[in-house]
Amino acid sequence: MASLGEFEFIDQFLRSQAAQGQPFYRHPLALGIGDDAALMPPLDAAEQVAVASDMLIEGRHYFPDVDPRALGHKVLAVNLSDLAAMGARPLGFTLSAGLREIRTQWITSFLDGLFALSREAECPLIGGDTTAVPQGGAEVFSVTVLGAVPKGSALRRDGLQAGDDLWVSGHLGDAAYAVTLKSTDPKLDWPQPRIALGLRLRGLATAVIDISDGLQSEVMHLLHGAAGRSRAPAQLMATLCWQDVPIGPRLRQAVSARQRDDHEAVCIAITGGDEYELLFGASPHEQSNIRDIGRHLGLALTKIGSVASSETFGIDWRDAQGQPLAADWQQRLHNGGFRHF
Ligand code: ADP
Ligand code: MG
Repeated sequence: MASLGEFEFIDQFLRSQAAQGQPFYRHPLALGIGDDAALMPPLDAAEQVAVASDMLIEGRHYFPDVDPRALGHKVLAVNLSDLAAMGARPLGFTLSAGLREIRTQWITSFLDGLFALSREAECPLIGGDTTAVPQGGAEVFSVTVLGAVPKGSALRRDGLQAGDDLWVSGHLGDAAYAVTLKSTDPKLDWPQPRIALGLRLRGLATAVIDISDGLQSEVMHLLHGAAGRSRAPAQLMATLCWQDVPIGPRLRQAVSARQRDDHEAVCIAITGGDEYELLFGASPHEQSNIRDIGRHLGLALTKIGSVASSETFGIDWRDAQGQPLAADWQQRLHNGGFRHF
């Protein structure tokens, strides 16, 4: 199969497509691909820059036979999801690629997926690096995304307050379920970064995180974030209803077909990673505003429980009648979060 040289690749594949339809490239002070560094146009004095990086490694985060178009989408989507979780609007991104060789057909599809999302999110590719990895080595893609957020209004992980409700966007579990079946799923392959939701949660949510490692583990991050913020750490306990967790259509179907029981399905939804939905805390007074936002965006926003000051710290899973979840299931949930090492 035809393969390309590095400079040919940068010039013919990256430089030309990166600019297409992107307002960034029309700004007189902006400079994109081609020089030693990119130049951003100046920001509004009232804004600060948000920066996030995420890396995908072959054999670790994706299968070698992945659809390259989906991979191109995903490497940008997971980064945009981090911006969404900060309430930042995208400014641009860099792409660093370690490749065994530049296969024309494969990279064309990869860039189709990447640039389609780049244009949709108005987040232009402004630079990067392209290097060869040793033959037989894993390929790797790393994206760094830049965003802007009004000073002091970024949606951080450390703002949760006693009394807040906890909410999740979209539905959970289908991505992890697809992995267990070694099959594909739109949730797994084409994650949709919740940028519009992030922007609307500014000034409304107390704390926001995107669900990359599983709901259980992200709720713990918010609880730890709140504990880390206060000088005299107030213990927070999240009381969550497992029947309120919005499970994905595919898992729901597996339950109807009796391929999974409902505890199992919820367990997958709660511990499964790769969701890229937003988990957020908000005062109960915001409930109707949040429902309006969900309706406006055509995105399910589901209240799954609330947090309160407590003698103990952690998550208490209950059923719809307020009864605690059986101890063995609680344990499975606690053990189930994704660990990178
Ligand atoms: P340098 O020697 O300064 O590192 P390179 O030859 O690596 O320059 O890159 C030349 C230009 O191409 C730079 O503007 C760089 O940002 C851009 N570039 C290289 N690889 C990529 C990539 N994978 N994605 C986007 N831009 C890239
Ligand atoms: Mg370089």
